[in-house]
Amino acid sequence: MKEILLLKYGEIVLKGANKRYFEDMLLRQLRRKAKPYGEFDISRSQSTIYVEPKNDLCDMDGMLAAAGKVFGIVAICRAAVCEKNMESILETVKAYIPPHLAGKKTFKVESKRSDKNFPLDSIEISREAGGAVLSACPHMRVDVHNPDVIVRVEVRDFAAYVHPGPVKGAGGMPVGSNGRGLLLLSGGIDSPVAGYMMARRGMTVEAIHFESFPYTSEMARDKVLRLAQIVSEYNNDSMIVHVVSLTKVQEELVKHCDEDYFTLLLRRYMMAIADRVASRFYCDALVTGESLGQVASQTAEAIGVTDPVATHPVFRPCIGMDKEDIVALSRKIGTFETSIEPFEDCCTVFTPRHPRTRPDLAKVLVQEQKLPFDQLVEEALAGMYRVDVTPEGYEVRQ
Ligand code: ATP
Ligand code: MG
Repeated sequence: MKEILLLKYGEIVLKGANKRYFEDMLLRQLRRKAKPYGEFDISRSQSTIYVEPKNDLCDMDGMLAAAGKVFGIVAICRAAVCEKNMESILETVKAYIPPHLAGKKTFKVESKRSDKNFPLDSIEISREAGGAVLSACPHMRVDVHNPDVIVRVEVRDFAAYVHPGPVKGAGGMPVGSNGRGLLLLSGGIDSPVAGYMMARRGMTVEAIHFESFPYTSEMARDKVLRLAQIVSEYNNDSMIVHVVSLTKVQEELVKHCDEDYFTLLLRRYMMAIADRVASRFYCDALVTGESLGQVASQTAEAIGVTDPVATHPVFRPCIGMDKEDIVALSRKIGTFETSIEPFEDCCTVFTPRHPRTRPDLAKVLVQEQKLPFDQLVEEALAGMYRVDVTPEGYEVRQ
């Protein structure tokens, strides 16, 4: 039996003149995602995207999973396709629906008829299709109020479709529809989640990672890039990661500044460097994985001290989340196991014993002025290199 995927997108992003633009974006992304799973015809009609296999070699399970990662798609129906006549619809209901009712007790049928020339109206279609379900599965009962399964029949322009209801899509907005964000990506749990969340809101995510070789290792960097690989799957299957060394900055801080302020000063350097990289690569915002009160540098006061160095808005999608919720999301997107691999981060080398949790900007500036801030920022930027990341791997460029 021929199957098809019917994808529904969120109406909010598809209003007015933007509709076509967003639809085109979704079609392009789906066509790219489809490649490993065979040849598909991917088209749109009546606010639905049709993903149709061109032959029997297509991997529908793979395609379904891939479509489930495209932001902007809210629901996916895997349906059987049949001719637009009742005989064929009823036959299809009898053949296609029973496996989906295993372990279920009640159902109802809902029909939609966008072709108004079809001889039966939707209530009549539902009634007949309901009869077909009952004859194929005598153990089932109809329950119109609270059914276990809603069987759907959709009579559209070129064919009719029968399916046991939608599965949830990835939601959000198509990646690329909401600007570019520069994600400060560490090897922790939070920042990959933050990147995912902004991609889900339609941002194209680019990343910056700070290392501190030899205090941080090649392995630590590899871990971060493997995290980027996972996040890239949600970001149009690619992500640029800029890598910047903070070794010199950290050594100078240790030599010249009061230990209590190391972390805050370091974070101001990170923000300043990221801010300049964002300007250079046309990013509209910085993104971090900070969560209010999680560590000393993430109190409202500490954030207030690090924020002013940025000229771009700083998005912190995890700011109001509990660690437990961030962990749950990181498990869901597949970054958790990598995030908990035990490697050092530049923030964890030279950590102060008594970090300031309620810092005073004036005092921080006194410490900061002991060093040539702009010069150190420029030096760090001069050594920056780029890594191109895809879900399959990564390649270091110069
Ligand atoms: P956790 O380690 O608890 O998962 P985290 O690494 O996100 O969280 P912090 O080390 O306090 O927590 O860093 C806060 C944020 O600063 C990170 O979410 C990330 O956005 C940014 N950041 C930290 N270290 C780096 C780094 N080495 N490179 C780039 N960004 C970093
Ligand atoms: Mg960390």
